[in-house]
Amino acid sequence: MNKPEFDADVVVVGGGMVGGLLAAALSLDKSLRIVVLESAEPTPFDPGSQPAYDLRVSALSIASRRMLEAVGAWDGIESRRACPYRDLSVWDGEVGGRTDFHARDAGVPELGYIVENRVIQLSLWDQLQALPNVECYCPATLESIDAHADHVTLKLLGAPKSRLKARLVVGADGANSLVRQQMGISIETTRYEQHALVANVTTALPQQQITWQRFVPTGPQAMLPLCGSKASIVWYHNEAEVIRLKALDEEAFISELMDTFPQELGGINSVEARASFPISKAHVDSYTANRIALAGDAAHTVHPLAGQGVNIGLLDAAALAETIINAQKAERDIGAAQVLARYERWRRFENNLMIHSLDAIHKAFGEQPQWFKQLRSAGLNTVNNVPFVRNRLMLRAMGTEGDLPQLARL
Ligand SMILES: Cc1cc2nc3c(=O)[nH]c(=O)nc-3n(C[C@H](O)[C@H](O)[C@H](O)COP(=O)(O)OP(=O)(O)OC[C@H]3O[C@@H](n4cnc5c(N)ncnc54)[C@H](O)[C@@H]3O)c2cc1C
Repeated sequence: MNKPEFDADVVVVGGGMVGGLLAAALSLDKSLRIVVLESAEPTPFDPGSQPAYDLRVSALSIASRRMLEAVGAWDGIESRRACPYRDLSVWDGEVGGRTDFHARDAGVPELGYIVENRVIQLSLWDQLQALPNVECYCPATLESIDAHADHVTLKLLGAPKSRLKARLVVGADGANSLVRQQMGISIETTRYEQHALVANVTTALPQQQITWQRFVPTGPQAMLPLCGSKASIVWYHNEAEVIRLKALDEEAFISELMDTFPQELGGINSVEARASFPISKAHVDSYTANRIALAGDAAHTVHPLAGQGVNIGLLDAAALAETIINAQKAERDIGAAQVLARYERWRRFENNLMIHSLDAIHKAFGEQPQWFKQLRSAGLNTVNNVPFVRNRLMLRAMGTEGDLPQLARL
């Protein structure tokens, strides 16, 4: 099936976390030739110089760790910077129900890790550079795509070649995916009224191994532990309030944090950086088009309240790589509609479940009648008191339940 007239079997547009994992997973089949196009070079990270924390961090699940390990990228993450957490608490700030998850209950050392997005991307890039069947074009930008019955032509800017011909193109180019737009794939997007204010702070409390989230009607308030006595604070609120909070000077912002956040936060010594993000949920009408597939944020976005966006994107990448490699081994056309349909069925179901579950949580903790609030609070306490239910939910959050691709299994 490897025809010499093709520049690559698969071109991955977007070398972010999802595109990086996809290319590394595809490279496990040495008969595939892969090109990755990435428009922005990742900023280097020197662990020795103890660089300040990036604002963009992700809570990686155990399944994500397994996939990153399987492609050899986990060591690069750990040697740079990753903060494990062992406990996870969620509580109702209005009525008071609470659920506490502990890694020891699941018989695992940790529930997940908080890692800077840049660290994940760089560690994947280290792997890609060393692979003989992967070529990375960076900085290089996709300009346009032309899909035909038996191949796809890509026009590029800034790449060693201005045109590429491939059997299959994957759009892992994020929420504003050009691949998706060029292929005319529609996406249903709902903007939440909340924005996320993210701040990196130094806490008076020593290094913590817990991530927690308190839900109040204006939106969740969360703390994600970073290494040392650093933490990433996520404060969801309406846009106007987030703009106001972002503009406050450090002292006034700390004072607002202390007045509003739960006592678990403890004192805040300093605020290193702040940024805000609009929040939306979105899902494409189709994950595939003629010789094209979409993965990660290019195909869906979720409310970040449970830190699942990149975790489901990495599962897309592993599932798609598995589908393509199986087709290649069976000497089938890797860009054929029937091959890509298997990927679509697989991931659409799992991602739909996640998008709607997170949306339901968001709504349940919004403005609700008193009877519902009591029910919600009782629900949290019940989950806390019934180990079977608590453990099932914990396994979901760890990403170890569901129809997992091979790379995410033990
Ligand atoms: C406030 C907030 C907090 C979050 N927290 C978490 C969390 O804790 N856990 C979690 O799992 N998820 C979290 N997420 C979601 C997570 O950040 C995203 O799901 C993730 O970044 C998506 O990764 P991706 O690789 O699909 O896309 P992106 O990260 O957007 O990467 C796309 C890549 O494609 C490149 N690109 C784009 N267009 C082109 C082009 N035309 N040519 C070449 N290259 C191109 C870009 O440069 C980029 O590198 C959070 C999101 C927000 C907003």
